[in-house]
Amino acid sequence: MINVTKTFLPPQHEYQAILKRAWDTGWVTNRGQLVLELEDKLKTFLGVNHMTLMTNGTLPIQIAIKTLELSGEIITTPFSYVATTSSIVWESCKPIFVDIHPDYLTIDERQIEAAITNQTTAILATHVFGNPCHVDAIDAIAKKHDLKVIYDAAHCFGVQYDGQSVFNYGDVSTTSFHATKIFHTGEGGAIFSNDKRLHEALYYHHNFGHDGTEAFYGIGINAKISELQAAMGLSVFPYIDEIFKQRKSIVDQYDNALQSEDIQKLRLRENTKWNYCYYPVIFENESTLKRIKQALEAESIFPRRYFYPSLDQLPYIDNQSNCSVSRRVASCILCLPLFVGLEHKDVQLITNIILSNL
Ligand SMILES: *Cc1c(COP(=O)(O)O)cnc(C)c1O
Repeated sequence: MINVTKTFLPPQHEYQAILKRAWDTGWVTNRGQLVLELEDKLKTFLGVNHMTLMTNGTLPIQIAIKTLELSGEIITTPFSYVATTSSIVWESCKPIFVDIHPDYLTIDERQIEAAITNQTTAILATHVFGNPCHVDAIDAIAKKHDLKVIYDAAHCFGVQYDGQSVFNYGDVSTTSFHATKIFHTGEGGAIFSNDKRLHEALYYHHNFGHDGTEAFYGIGINAKISELQAAMGLSVFPYIDEIFKQRKSIVDQYDNALQSEDIQKLRLRENTKWNYCYYPVIFENESTLKRIKQALEAESIFPRRYFYPSLDQLPYIDNQSNCSVSRRVASCILCLPLFVGLEHKDVQLITNIILSNL
């Protein structure tokens, strides 16, 4: 069986050797040595100033909305994982969907201004499939209209835009270290901000609002990562270059094999150093997608419809938006298997099935 992804697991004894340090100290959470060490390593590796590890990639989005004290309307993308939209609604704000760019698949910055009202407080956009949004245009719009910018950068581990980590853009960026992501801690995530005071506020919100043991800055929640999760991250970390290398090689194989006018591929934004996180292909129509998906499944190959449905069509969204590009893309896009250990012959089998069923 070949799934869309397969979690990268280091040799078990390497994980256990790191885990032993938690046993030795008897300290399994509340930012022990393993969490601090992983945070240090990642900050250096990524080239970011302020970063706090968290227990998943969804709570950082909610904490960003809470900490920035957003209310009213938040302009967002309809093409992302559900957590982008559900976090907005969970925090009692209203998502206002702006359609995506047909090539880059990120929010179409040219359409943002028309969606701004006197209720708008922020833009929450996703660098989908690790492809950066038009961050410069979004920054200019935000400044002009006094809006906050949050980026859901869940796919962006290792991505650079214009020579620096894409996590450095926006007021706040968030990411996920879920087991299906490129770098992972089983469950996990992180939050980033370049503003030291803002980052301190994001930090205390993730730890019940604590100011020491007996005082509180304000309201908070628990989004702490544990030592056990950090141990996983520390044991995956030494393999990160190898992970990128192997994924690049698979992406190159797909690129070479899948050259057809009937298949649209992701167009990366200029000045992007990408991380080979997903291999999405967009077919002409949904029936082609279904035919190909079925043919692959007959060979026990399970691609995923990332991301379907378009988020403006979620059952808890009132359906006023007209995100026709997102709806079309969502209905025709399929992410192909891409993970360390996927063999050349598997890629050949997958691409042959696709080409013969177009
Ligand atoms: C994975 C993902 C999340 C959620 O991360 P979790 O760690 O699973 O909570 C949020 N947004 C996007 C775009 C994602 O792909």
